[in-house]
Parts: sequence; structure tokens; C-alpha cells
Amino acid sequence: MPSKKVVLKWGFDCLGYDVDEDDIVTKIWCKTCREFCEICEETPSMRARTGAVKPDCFARGTSTIKKNNFQDHVKKSRAHEISVLRLTELNKMKETPMETSRSAESSGASKPNTLMPYLQGMSLKQHNQLQKKFQLAHFLVGNAKSFKFYADMAEFEKKYHGVDLGTGYINDKSCREIVFYISESLKLEKITEPLNNNKANYYSILNDGSSSAKTMDEKELFLIKTAAFGVPTFNVMTLEEPSSTTAEGLKDALDSSFVKMNFTFDRKLKELGMCSDGAAVNLKLHR
Ligand SMILES: [Zn+2]
Repeated sequence: MPSKKVVLKWGFDCLGYDVDEDDIVTKIWCKTCREFCEICEETPSMRARTGAVKPDCFARGTSTIKKNNFQDHVKKSRAHEISVLRLTELNKMKETPMETSRSAESSGASKPNTLMPYLQGMSLKQHNQLQKKFQLAHFLVGNAKSFKFYADMAEFEKKYHGVDLGTGYINDKSCREIVFYISESLKLEKITEPLNNNKANYYSILNDGSSSAKTMDEKELFLIKTAAFGVPTFNVMTLEEPSSTTAEGLKDALDSSFVKMNFTFDRKLKELGMCSDGAAVNLKLHR
């Protein structure tokens, strides 16, 4: 095994190590991956969203102490690449405190992706503020209210009830992002997890589409029925935008819906049936 001096000469900033009493290195790891691999690992849905992969041995540490192996990790490992990205994001967020991040909100980002990096370096106060914002967003959408109500309600709570909500993440776009994460979590808990872990053995799918006469936008809604421990439940799986209104377009939308659910089982072993109306494209879809 090499000495500490030799290992330090390799010149990797992210290299962590343990030494014995003779300064011989007994274990090495990647400090960046060790800190951020949890994000990569956390849930299948998060992995799918971030394109993350499970970290390699350098996240936990290894007693195989070879420069080439570590070099490969730093240069080629996807997990390392993502960890570095997370670290960069976190540093950026620290430079831009939450209170002054309104410009990012109003820029009209279409994809919910600004909230996650905050969670890493968040103070207890910010955590409490965010928790209340989640509760408010959940309450509003649970009562079929528009995202537009969110900022007004937050303002009301702050002004008349003295609720500490901070100043960031108070607009309709933030509400949309918060609701996105709530729905991801619910889908994981109510659909993916029971089916993946055999608490629910079978499911069936219901689907229907609608198209806007004005914009010709086509949307296809997929619902899933499962029965965990004998209790039947219906849940919305996804709302898809089919690439075309042909049977092929709908089939692709259905497949895309399943990909998003991160099922780990073979569909043909659990799928009991599909239910739709008798539109011609649906009939071709099921053939
Ligand atoms: Zn690494």
C-alpha cells in the first residue's frame, strides 16, 4: 500500500483517505461523491429525473488504492460527474441567498428544477418557511384552486397572521414546482412503491384524451387502479402529450407514462387490462 505522501502527490482535491500509524494509506474515497451520492441514490424517480446513476465504490471508500482507478473515477464516472454538478449548484445557491432569488422565479423556467439544490444547504428557518409553503400549495390544489391564488394567500398569511414565509418561492410558478414535488412523492408512495414491492399485485389502466379545438393540443390522461391489501384505489398516473393522435402516438404516450413511474417489474405479469372509450385510435392501440 502507498504512503500518505505518495497519495497526496496524485493531486486530487476530492480525495479523502485513512492512514495507519505508519502513515500508510489504508482506505481512499471521493469526498465529493461521499457527500452528494445520496442524491444520486435516493429514489428511482429522482434518479430518472436527474439522469443520475448509483455511485461506485469511491463514494463509500475502498481499500484498493490505485491512482489509475481514482483517475478513472474522476474522469469517467457518471456518479462523480453528477456529484460535482450538485456541489457546483450548492455553491451557486450559497452565493445567491434564498431571499434574493425572485429573479430566478420570474424568469419563467418551464421545468421544475430550482428547488432541489436548496434543500442541501438550507437553514432550519428556511426549512420551516418552505414547509409552510408546501402546506399552502397542497391546500390550494387540494381544493381545486388555481396556482394564481398562492401568492395572494401567502401575502394574506404574512400580513394578517404574521406567518413567517420568507420572501422567496411566492409566486404561481413556485407553487407549480412545489405541487410537482408533492405529486411525485404521492405517486411514489401510492402507485410505484406498492406495485414494485408486491403490496399490490395487479393493476389496470384507464385512459382518455382530449384535444383543444383552439390550439389543437392533444392531452392523454392515464389513470391506474391498484388494490393494495384488498383496498382498491384509483390514482392519476400521468398526463401525457402524445406526439401524434394516431394509435402509435398514443402507444408511445402510454409507454412514456410507464417509464415515468419507474416500475421495476415486468408489465405483463401485473397488467390486468386497459379501459378506454371506443375511439378508433384506442381500438388499434389495444390490438
Ligand atoms: Zn467522485
